Amino acid sequence: PKEKINILLLENISDAAVAEFKEAGYASVRKLTGALSEEDLIREVKDVHLLGIRSKSHITKPVLEAAKKLQAIGCFCIGTNQVDLQTATEHGVAVFNAPYSNTRSVAELVIGLSIMLIRRIPDKNIAAHDGIWMKESKGSYELRGKTLAIVGYGNIGSQVSVLAEAMGMNVLYYDVETKLPLGNAVQQKSLKELFSQADIISLHVPSTDTTKNMINKQTLKHVKKGAILINYARGEVVDLDALKEVLEKGQLSGAAIDVFPVEPEKNGAAFSTPLQKLPNVILTPHIGGSTEEAQHNIGLDVTSKMLNYLEKGASFGSHTVPAISVPAIEKTHRILHIHQNVPGVLSEINTTLSKKKINILGQYLKTNEEIGYVVLDVDSMLSQEALALLKEVKHTIKTRLLY
Ligand code: NAD
Repeated sequence: PKEKINILLLENISDAAVAEFKEAGYASVRKLTGALSEEDLIREVKDVHLLGIRSKSHITKPVLEAAKKLQAIGCFCIGTNQVDLQTATEHGVAVFNAPYSNTRSVAELVIGLSIMLIRRIPDKNIAAHDGIWMKESKGSYELRGKTLAIVGYGNIGSQVSVLAEAMGMNVLYYDVETKLPLGNAVQQKSLKELFSQADIISLHVPSTDTTKNMINKQTLKHVKKGAILINYARGEVVDLDALKEVLEKGQLSGAAIDVFPVEPEKNGAAFSTPLQKLPNVILTPHIGGSTEEAQHNIGLDVTSKMLNYLEKGASFGSHTVPAISVPAIEKTHRILHIHQNVPGVLSEINTTLSKKKINILGQYLKTNEEIGYVVLDVDSMLSQEALALLKEVKHTIKTRLLY
């Protein structure tokens, strides 16, 4: 019953999320503006079924152990590092996030930065603020007809590709995987081949062992003189000292950097990078995806994943409970069963039910290394009995009945 479901949202999660929960019929939604300490979390999560957080709440083992009724955690942000995923898995708590909701915001800004840098606006802007008139066309270009090199043709890279073509650019890209080119974009075989043709290079790879310092002294040797580098991906991808050197030599004519190997935790904190005060360099404080629209979209995306899990058992997008899509519940009742992934649990579930002549009308199973997740549709008249039987199955972690 919906009135028994308690939802706690921390860290000023978007009102779009609150509205969605209310519209779905959940009245008990508590929204707090800040994060909570571990001690406060332990106290507050006891009766909570759905917990919404952003990046500042640390959901540790003691918090998860206190959260006896918790079904799902929604991270209303991009990452999930703030949650102890191992313990959440062991407790059968689903963890969702919104990995794609801010991708358009990044893609749009990359186009804006490209225009600003290729026109050398940062220098002219600083001069005008300093009371100096700096009207000139030398070294300023249009985007039209220029070549954009995209490194990492994923969710963001491919959107940048589409927007850049609309501006009349030629798009080339490099990716470790073979990616379907959008529009007239062409995949290149190597970074070297890509860089040697590029007027603007934009990085859209994740931070991994293979991308760490991918832009370094060696790779920068392949760029055309006067090219521009944009890094709105991850700070570890670029060796900033090597970048500084090529900017000072004029090998690159400009750069826009949003992400740094070390970033301050709080607004107002001191921040330093070797790139400060260099001409035609735009520095921003990791705001590539920070827009009102992205926050709103994150709110809708995570809420819908949490509600799908709560109401249908659909775990698609979960980082802990194995992710499965399931059909809507029609006429039957549905039992969700989360268990330790050891041999024999599924057969015990099936024999236990068949012994009592409880027919399984639909069954969906997925496992990961730690746990198994099985969704069973059964006759509505027998569901309470089936639930009681399944609770007794060895290695059971969590069960839940939906109708
Ligand atoms: P994605 O996973 O959709 O795409 C990444 C692409 O990079 C994939 O196609 C992958 O195959 C490719 N790739 C991986 N390793 C590679 C390598 N060594 N060489 C070439 N290609 C490689 O990711 P996304 O959603 O497009 O995000 C891209 C980056 O942007 C991520 O690092 C993400 O953290 C970052 N990001 C930054 C902001 C911001 O505020 N600045 C906002 C959102 C995302």
